Parts: sequence; C-alpha cells; structure tokens
Amino acid sequence: MSGRETISSLIELLKRLYPEAECQLRYQGIPERLVIATILSAQTTDAAVNKATPVLWKKYSTMKDLASADRSHVEDILKTIGLFRNKTGFIIKAAGFMAEKGLPDTIDELIKMPGVGRKTANVIMGEIFGQPSITVDTHVKRLSARLGLTDHTDPGKIEMDLKKIIPEEEQTMFSHRLITHGRNICKARKPLCSVCSLSSFCPYCKKWSPQKRTPLKTT
Ligand code: SF4
Repeated sequence: MSGRETISSLIELLKRLYPEAECQLRYQGIPERLVIATILSAQTTDAAVNKATPVLWKKYSTMKDLASADRSHVEDILKTIGLFRNKTGFIIKAAGFMAEKGLPDTIDELIKMPGVGRKTANVIMGEIFGQPSITVDTHVKRLSARLGLTDHTDPGKIEMDLKKIIPEEEQTMFSHRLITHGRNICKARKPLCSVCSLSSFCPYCKKWSPQKRTPLKTT
C-alpha cells in the first residue's frame, strides 16, 4: 500500500468510526462565543468550559458586556477552569476587540486578537466559516506523532505537515475525528492499543507490541 493510499484508508476508517464527530464546545450559534470558549479551553477539558460558559453568558450576554466586565467577577465565574486568571484577561480583551471590529474571517486577522493562537483561529475557520482547517490541540498533537504523520512537536509545523497529506475537504473533520479518538482510545498515559481500530496503521503500536504491524508512511 502506498503512502497516499494508506492516508486515504486512515481517513476512511476514521469516518466510519466517528461519522458524527463535531466541535464539543457549546456556543449557542453565536460565533464570538466560540472564540471565547476556545480561548478558555486551553489546557482544560471542553466539558469544564461548557459548564462555566452558560453562567458567563447569563451575566454578560454580549461581547460589549463582557468587554466592560469587572475582572474579579469574571474570574469568580471561571475559577473552576485552569489558568482562569490569565484567561480572564484574554477573553475580556478579545471581547473588546470583537465588540469594536467584529469577528475576523482569516487566520492572519484572527490571531491578532488577544489570547487567540492558531488553534483557536483554526477552530473558528472550520466551524464558523466552513474553511479547511487543522486544529492542533493536545489530542491531534499526540496522535499525529503516534501515527507517524509528523516528526514535529511544534503545533504550527504539525498543522503544516497534516495539511500536506490530508485533502482540504477532509481536514476539518479529520481533526474532529482524531480528537475524538484521542479522548476515547488513544489516551495520553495509557493508549488502548489492544482495542484500537487504527492499530494496523500505527508505528507506535508496532514499537510497543510484539505483533508485527504495518507502519504508516506519509510519503
Ligand atoms: S494503536 Fe495505540 S498508539 Fe496507535 S492510535 Fe491506536 S491507541 Fe493510539
């Protein structure tokens, strides 16, 4: 099997495993809220963010409201979220940016917002603007390495490596599916290789398993 065929097989297998994979952050169809939720999700579970944001939106329903919020009140709402003090500063500034200028529609403009890096920008491009996007969160980073899709550890370089091998029309859902697989099976500390449907593709599994498996080639 050539590298291209192997990637196609991986994409198709992930489609069968996770046909309904989607963004797990809740934003009530309001794009600016997804920006805020994604900033909050750094190094925190989406579930924790989804628990806190309804309280935030009840008190500050618009970006203008949030931009002029009392910082200590926002911190109190977000105190169950990791790094909540730093994130509070970022989301208040990002809300001010969006209240004044609206939501940018390119990655280059999105990353000018306080607290917004390529991960958040890609979430917005894929989910809100329907553009091909590769979101490199902790799961995509880990699985890309284990599956041999990249040799890099820098998220920006991983994104570029994946963009080279994943067809544009598949990119956004490929990210969602890798994230889902990372949460369910390919866990950080104890990947469940013995029950993993991707094991025949996986160099990591081959390395750690006595069984012979086929490494995933990307070239
Ligand atoms: S075989 Fe193991 S390391 Fe490879 S993707 Fe599956 S769970 Fe992860």
